[in-house]
Amino acid sequence: MAPRDCMAQLGCWEGYRLRDSWEETRNGQRICIIRLEPKARRRRCCDGCGRGVSSIHDRVERRVRDLPVFDIPVELVVPRLRLACRKCGPKLERLDWLAPYARVTTRLAASVARLCKVMSLRHVAGFYRLAWTTVKRIDLRHLEQELGPVDLSGVTVIAMDEFAIQKGHRYATVIVEPSSKRVLWVGRGRSREEIRPFFKLLGPEGCARLRAAVMDMNTAYDREVRMHCPKAEVVYDLFHVVAKYGREVIDRVRVDEANRLRGDRAARKVVKSSRWLLLRNRENVTREADQVRLDEILAANQALMTVYVLKDDLKMLWAYRHPGYARRFWQEWYERAMASGIAPLCLFAKRLKPYLPGILAHSRWPLGTNLVEGINNRIKVIKRMAYGFRDDHYFFLKIRAAFPGNR
Ligand SMILES: [Zn+2]
Repeated sequence: MAPRDCMAQLGCWEGYRLRDSWEETRNGQRICIIRLEPKARRRRCCDGCGRGVSSIHDRVERRVRDLPVFDIPVELVVPRLRLACRKCGPKLERLDWLAPYARVTTRLAASVARLCKVMSLRHVAGFYRLAWTTVKRIDLRHLEQELGPVDLSGVTVIAMDEFAIQKGHRYATVIVEPSSKRVLWVGRGRSREEIRPFFKLLGPEGCARLRAAVMDMNTAYDREVRMHCPKAEVVYDLFHVVAKYGREVIDRVRVDEANRLRGDRAARKVVKSSRWLLLRNRENVTREADQVRLDEILAANQALMTVYVLKDDLKMLWAYRHPGYARRFWQEWYERAMASGIAPLCLFAKRLKPYLPGILAHSRWPLGTNLVEGINNRIKVIKRMAYGFRDDHYFFLKIRAAFPGNR
């Protein structure tokens, strides 16, 4: 096989053949240029109506990028044909391998989109020696086509959470279907007004169908859910309540204890440096030396021991599958908290009380809280990969694409 035929066959530029090829150097980079020409006497396909057309209206030469060969970028010189379609008038020829007005071939675009799932835009741009704006445009179009409008027809349970968009206090809200781990909606902000578009999208029927909404208790989400979805139960998740307990009770008691031990420098230092140990779940403290240290700290500090034990017990509340038992357990927990006399603990218990219905609702809607945590971690990675691109639409599409659901 002659080299030219071989290349044309590998190229699969349907309807075209290779006229000639040469090498150029641009900014010190070798580039392989391949000039194509239309094969003669072929019936071509109108991009408007899809009909076969044989007469050509005009042609304009376009340069498009294709996949590299032997790590050398490839640029095609393609005479783009406008056909004289009887129905549509002058119209571009439809090509499987090159979309209208695209700057790269279909297979290069597909390859770029595949890489964009696992690499940052800048890395993909560097890999294919393309402008990052080109890479972003390709990935954006691919995501829009792949995802399409979201299907909310069977949604009965949702989980809602906020995440930080940028450093400082700019937030966005993500809404997930827990059963399928599918991201349904992402929007900027976390206020009632800012999440309202989701309920508009869900529509009156969808709102009436909603049975439960899981969320952090420190948000405005609950009021918005109650307004749109009167039949839906608000459920507060364990993850956020325990995180709040860590901040407002354990942390504060630890600082108080450290202050109390002002006279005993060694003991004070041990308590001050125990933050990590105390906030971690016990099952995640794996090193034996750490376990011993934790036990020693707790044994030596009565107040820390109390709030530590009550944290573990508080988590039990989410393990119940029967609201009646859960309520009784809560009552006991609350009395122990109040009897402790530890101010931050009493305050926490009092503040938690009004949220009890949403906590007990968990026994009817036992949904894993690690989902929220997992999604938030994944969003951090996506944010890093889309670093520098202040484009909400693109960023939110990337989040949706990372959680397409498993239905
Ligand atoms: Zn046509």
